[in-house]
This record gives sequence, structure tokens and C-alpha cells, in this order.
Amino acid sequence: MKSAILSVGTELLFGQITNTNSVYLSQQLNDLGIDVMYHYTVGDNPKRLAEMIRQAFTDCDVIVTTGGLGPTQDDLTKEIAAEVLHDELVLHEDLLEELEGYFKKINRVMTENNKKQVYLPSRAVVFDNDAGTAPGFALEENGKTIICMPGPPREMTRMFERRVRPYLEAKSEDVIYYKMLRTFGIGESMLETELQEWIDGQTDPTLATYAKEGEACLRITSKRRTLEEAKAAVEDMIEKVNRKVGQFVYSYDDEEFYHVVGRKMIEQNLSFSCAESCTGGLFAQTITEVPGISAVFDRGLVTYSNRAKMEELGVKAETLEKFGAVSEETAIEMAEGLRKVTGSRLCVSVTGIAGPDGGTEEKPVGLVYICAILDDERVSREFKIRNTNRKWNRNYTVLCMLDMINHLIEGRK
Ligand code: ATP
Repeated sequence: MKSAILSVGTELLFGQITNTNSVYLSQQLNDLGIDVMYHYTVGDNPKRLAEMIRQAFTDCDVIVTTGGLGPTQDDLTKEIAAEVLHDELVLHEDLLEELEGYFKKINRVMTENNKKQVYLPSRAVVFDNDAGTAPGFALEENGKTIICMPGPPREMTRMFERRVRPYLEAKSEDVIYYKMLRTFGIGESMLETELQEWIDGQTDPTLATYAKEGEACLRITSKRRTLEEAKAAVEDMIEKVNRKVGQFVYSYDDEEFYHVVGRKMIEQNLSFSCAESCTGGLFAQTITEVPGISAVFDRGLVTYSNRAKMEELGVKAETLEKFGAVSEETAIEMAEGLRKVTGSRLCVSVTGIAGPDGGTEEKPVGLVYICAILDDERVSREFKIRNTNRKWNRNYTVLCMLDMINHLIEGRK
């Protein structure tokens, strides 16, 4: 099935709002195995709107529109959709009753123009709006379908999830199943190169790579007659992918890295502390996003200055003098000191140069040392992040810390 997304609203053309609806819908339609061929954006203009719909229907089976369903004069998506698909708007009595009931409930007088919302094409399949008053609908003619939804993202996303998705699923004879793998430590282009043999000439399952900040994702999708068949095809491909790049995969279920690591720490009841220099508490902040982490997280120390590193963690003055605050030796003493202070089974430390200034030839911006200790096992590593952006470096450093912890935990299995 081929589709187009049509966003209606002059404020989109003025750049007053960002078109988040089309991004959401593209992802959702792709999920359903429906190819998205075009994104159109058109103002509140009846002639151009009709032209766009006709044009999209020349090679698409489904058009999904958002916006222009409300009660005001310039809301005209319905009228035009009905016109193009040779239908007319009629008052839907049941919807009018619901709307009147709604206004009574919230104790407001219903203005006459609100009635406009319950005039829908006579052949429309109506989609209730759980978050607002304008209903959505689907209208079909000769194998072509237009689906119209309201513009406000909260209303649109709920309507899509609860009403439109099942409607579209029922139209398709096939079942879609996919897994989103998340990787760290391998760039998107390298990931693609490694998997080239399956990406080239792919039919089913299909593989698609996506770059995320500092990470790369891989989506494996299968469209088959039954869910079992689709699942088996995806699982089979995951096995092949694992043989090539398995060491970089940290989630098979599109989970955030900190969630994966936090969950493992909780599951294994690993008491844990961190000592941070260049990330200034970002690691502690990130890991405390995980619900329930208080069961294992003892403390996070921000030891920015040399003095703090010595006083809080017992880093030796000679170490700082001889190797510098940004060195593997300092990172190790920070983690060892943290273990003494806290008694946590898992301790992680980090020291580095976040930039944009402060780098030297010997120690450039982006140079980071991380040390992680789990019980009697200790690993320390140097990272050279080739970026001078402070924010990026700090965020990426946190991912490196998660990666080291993840490997330490996994390595014990
Ligand atoms: P309403 O029932 O609120 O009148 P509507 O279907 O008429 O809804 P619009 O009036 O076109 O929708 O848009 C309402 C609001 O929804 C916009 O002001 C904007 O905040 C948001 N919106 C509309 N389209 C988009 C879009 N494509 N992406 C993100 N937000 C949007």
C-alpha cells in the first residue's frame, strides 16, 4: 500500500509551528508496512487542498491528513475530501448528541459553529476523538482512501493509536512484525557496511539503519501472512545480525541505554556509585531517570577540582602531579577511592576534557578516561572523542560509561 501524508494549516507554511504530525505519521505508517511516498503541506485554501488530494491519489492508495477539521470557517478539509471523493457532508445525529452531552458536562454553552464538526461525509467511517471535540474519519472510493484527523498532536496521536491503526491493520492482509535494535560503539555507516549483504536486494525481512546521537539503530521488519511467520523471519535475521555485530547491540527492544543498564543493576541488585569530573553529574542524573534505581544507587560525587579528587576520593597528589587530572591513573584512583568510601560493588569514575577549550596537543579536547570496577574486576579505558562540542562530548561520555558498565555486567554471565 502506498500513502501520502497531507498536513493542512497555514501556520505550518508560515513556520509558526513545527510539523511534528508528519514525522509521527511517517513512523507509524512505516511500522504498518505502508510505504510513505510524499509529505505535502498546504495552507487553508480550498483550491490548492483539492489539487493536492487529487495529485496524491494519482499514485497513492491512502492519504492521511491532519488539521482543518475544527469548527471555524477556515477548517475545510472535510468539505474538500468529500468533494474529491464524490460524497456530501451530512449531519451525524449520534455525534451531535455526544457533542451536546460533552458541552453540558463541562457546563459550557455550545456555540452554533461547533455543529460544523459533526457534519461528516455520508459514507464516512467515523473515528471518535478522545482528547477533543472534532471527530476524524475515513472515506473510501474505488480503492482510494482518505483518512482525516484533527491537527492538535495530542488529539491526532490518540486517534491514530486507538482508531486509525486498527482500521489500517484490518485493511491489510499481512501482519507486520519488527524489532528495533540499538547499538553503541559502531557508526551507522559501518553498521550498514557490515550488514550490506542483507540490506542489498532485501525483500523480507527488510533492514534499515538509523543514526541517533552517538548511537546507531537497526530496524528489522517482516510482513507475512501470520504473526508467527513474521516473528520467525525477524528472529532468524537477528541471529545473523548478531553473528556480525552482536557485540555492539545493547537492546533488542528499542530501549534507552541507561534503561538497559539501570534495569540490569536493579535485577542483579548491584549496589553502585559514581565519581564524575568532566560530566559534572550528568551520569548520575541520567541513571536516576530509571524508576526504582534507588534500590541500588548509593551516591554520585562530582569531584571537579584536584582538591575534591584528593579529599573525597583519596586521589594522591603525586598522581595528579605526575600524570595530570585527566589521565588513566587518576581515573583508576578515583574509582578505587570511591569503592573505599562507599563500599558499592559497582563503582565508575570519569575524568576528561569536555571542551571547547582547555585541550593541548598531548591532551586534546574529547580525551576521556573511564574506570569501572565490579567486585574484584576492574577495567579502565582511554577514549578520544573527535568533537569539540562540550554538550556532545559530555553526552557521549555518559554513553561510554554505560557501555563499559554494560560489558562488565555482561562479561560475568
Ligand atoms: P481544532 O479542532 O483544534 O480546530 P483542527 O483539526 O482544525 O483542530 P488545526 O486548526 O489545523 O486543526 O490545528 C490546530 C493546532 O494543532 C495548530 O494550531 C497546531 O498547534 C497543531 N497542529 C496542527 N497541525 C500540526 C502539525 N502538522 N504538526 C504539529 N502540530 C500541528
